[in-house]
Amino acid sequence: MKKLIATIAFSTLLLNGCASNFDNKAETIHANKQLQQHALFGINWVQQSGEYQALAHQAFNVAKMAFMHSKASEGKKRAVVVDLDETMLDNSLHAGWQIRNGMSFDPKVWTRWVNARQSRAISGAVEFSHFVNNNGGKIFYVSNRTDTDEKQATIDDMKRLGFSGVDEQSLLLKKDKSNKSPRFAEIEQQGYEIVLYVGDNLNDFSDAPYKKQNAERKAFVEAHKDDFGKKFIILPNPSYGDWEGGLAPDYFKGDALNRVKIREQAIEAWDGK
Ligand SMILES: [Mg+2]
Repeated sequence: MKKLIATIAFSTLLLNGCASNFDNKAETIHANKQLQQHALFGINWVQQSGEYQALAHQAFNVAKMAFMHSKASEGKKRAVVVDLDETMLDNSLHAGWQIRNGMSFDPKVWTRWVNARQSRAISGAVEFSHFVNNNGGKIFYVSNRTDTDEKQATIDDMKRLGFSGVDEQSLLLKKDKSNKSPRFAEIEQQGYEIVLYVGDNLNDFSDAPYKKQNAERKAFVEAHKDDFGKKFIILPNPSYGDWEGGLAPDYFKGDALNRVKIREQAIEAWDGK
């Protein structure tokens, strides 16, 4: 009898263990879906609204004016640095795939997406690249797409979309580090002065906000408030960016459940009274 009770107790424990593992897995799948559902409305906006399209044109129109007013120091040539993803290239089809499938960002899927060669151009971006190169400047594409297995597809897409001056000198992809200031320095070592930066992420302008929490990232913006529209041009990106990791320390080290919780806690709200 004792043996039977012990066997039943052990089996119950085992079953509970399996059930709780199953629950954890189901919870994680649900949390991943929730994270992607959070992105849905932003991607609706990017893909369907005229307002997003207008903001992109506004950014590049301001960028043209800023470039025309810029001057390099004596003996220097003018360079304009642009980021690629969600600045010149629209990857919202990849985001759409993530939403449809409830999948978080996966670098292997991203590489597969890049190699599918289906990136689109952001409104106004192609024309801006020609404007700079035809008006006494040189455009440099500084992106964290990788210099290895994402390079050829990126070149192919940019040429297909009609971007100006796409070559080995102008395209600076990620070799080891994702912070961009060493690549900005490389450009300046070639006799250029960077008079304008265009990006969708504060890290596209400077290393100062790199891997920082949002309070510090916002302090960087405040300290440079007069540069926006003149030296720094920002494109809207509601679906991802380094600001996400800036929501909480070790945000990306936590699982999907933890991220949902952090996002909910970060909401500032009226008390309804
Ligand atoms: Mg970008």
